[in-house]
Amino acid sequence: MLLLQKVFWFLSLLYRNVGSGPPCRASVVRFPQSQADGEVLQVRLELKRPWIVKAGHFIYLSLPRLRSFGLGLFESHPFMIAWSQENKESTTIVLLVQCRRGFTRKLRLADGANYAVVDGPYGSHRLRSLSCYDKVLFMADGIGIAAHLLPIRHLLLAHDEQTARVRRLSLVWLLETKDQQCWAEEFLLALHDMDHRQILTIFLLFPNESEGSSQGRDFSIKQQRKRMYPLTCELDMDWWIEQEWCAEAGNMLVTGMWTALDGTHEYHLRRHSLRKPAI
Ligand SMILES: Cc1cc2nc3c(=O)[nH]c(=O)nc-3n(C[C@H](O)[C@H](O)[C@H](O)COP(=O)(O)OP(=O)(O)OC[C@H]3O[C@@H](n4cnc5c(N)ncnc54)[C@H](O)[C@@H]3O)c2cc1C
Repeated sequence: MLLLQKVFWFLSLLYRNVGSGPPCRASVVRFPQSQADGEVLQVRLELKRPWIVKAGHFIYLSLPRLRSFGLGLFESHPFMIAWSQENKESTTIVLLVQCRRGFTRKLRLADGANYAVVDGPYGSHRLRSLSCYDKVLFMADGIGIAAHLLPIRHLLLAHDEQTARVRRLSLVWLLETKDQQCWAEEFLLALHDMDHRQILTIFLLFPNESEGSSQGRDFSIKQQRKRMYPLTCELDMDWWIEQEWCAEAGNMLVTGMWTALDGTHEYHLRRHSLRKPAI
């Protein structure tokens, strides 16, 4: 069985990456930022063979030329597919990658269009249950946003097509500095603009508002989009969950993607799910 799995995995890896025509290419976009640590890169991958990207999909990425003699082929790292653009001929997927110490740090130095090997897609089965809720509250800090963008897009489309129960969506994104909103700004605007029936509200929380932006750029998304609110406050998870819970009748899902290592956010979510079995 295990052998069969390996053979199947290898064949699908070949199918996704080998054949005539141009190979899969990765281009890396760096964002300006005021903090030295935790830089985030946007990695755009033009896939060799198009596939239908589903919310919750993630891939393993290898960049053979990131190490000498193409040895980067033997190093692969998992990343959520944050966004996708699909047409009949091609599929482009976008990853949001936070730089750490190894592969992701070297990725910063990748310039131009790099030959890439994509293993995947994996994941997405969990998403089916999203359609069973009237209200969904998405919460994330920092790079955690990468996991929420496609599920929100999926629910907005499903709402339009009346294939999901959802009628209220809220996203709460906690950020350390104003610079960081550019990681996902274009995707948040796209989500906002496709939400014709106005079920989505986006809150950007900046507890450290006084910290400056590297470009001195004041983000005024509030003026540009009606249902996007930049707020200068700490994240009070109990308050947000309570607000959503009381907002409208119906069952509710709270989904959090936290990168903070102290576990406080998970603790709060668990505490609420014990108190309110419907969450
Ligand atoms: C399903 C999944 C989806 C992810 N999606 C994203 C995403 O969208 N954006 C993002 O920035 N990060 C994401 N990550 C985390 C990302 O895979 C790691 O940050 C990355 O592999 C670190 O590489 P590095 O060599 O620079 O790490 P290092 O600096 O060497 O280590 C930093 C941390 O990453 C972990 N790590 C290192 N290599 C791997 C590996 N091959 N697989 C899993 N963890 C590893 C280490 O245990 C350590 O905790 C995801 C992880 C998983 C499991």
